[in-house]
Amino acid sequence: MAEAATQGGREVPIDPRLFDWPSADPRLYGSRCNDCGTHAFPAQDSCANCCSVDVERVPLATRGTLWSFTIQNFLPKSPPYAGDETLETFRPYGVGYVELPGQVRVEARLKAESPEELRIGMDMELVFERFRTDEQGNEVITYAFRPVA
Ligand SMILES: [Zn+2]
Repeated sequence: MAEAATQGGREVPIDPRLFDWPSADPRLYGSRCNDCGTHAFPAQDSCANCCSVDVERVPLATRGTLWSFTIQNFLPKSPPYAGDETLETFRPYGVGYVELPGQVRVEARLKAESPEELRIGMDMELVFERFRTDEQGNEVITYAFRPVA
């Protein structure tokens, strides 16, 4: 356990392929096909539209519009869900797709004071937040979108 204590206490991304953390300008990263322009998130090694392998990792827009969503009203089954809420601390939250203009629809957890304030078509912005504490004591950071104030 001493080893864990010396290694813990950092902030780490939930998946380093999705975004860099810490970062002065944190953004989601996807892929863009250099042959047809199709974007993907998470990044893919080949294009789902034209099968080209000429794709590159690109930063995605930080604002978009809410394309569709649902409300998660109960604590997801764990595993696979890795959050550290309990039945006592769980609060319903939105899950949906945010359409980034000219790029791709990103599946994301949605942050709102109340899920009832979410509306299809509303402007959303990217945020990063603590998701859980991992086995080494690190704070695991994930991404979400929230309504633009
Ligand atoms: Zn393509």
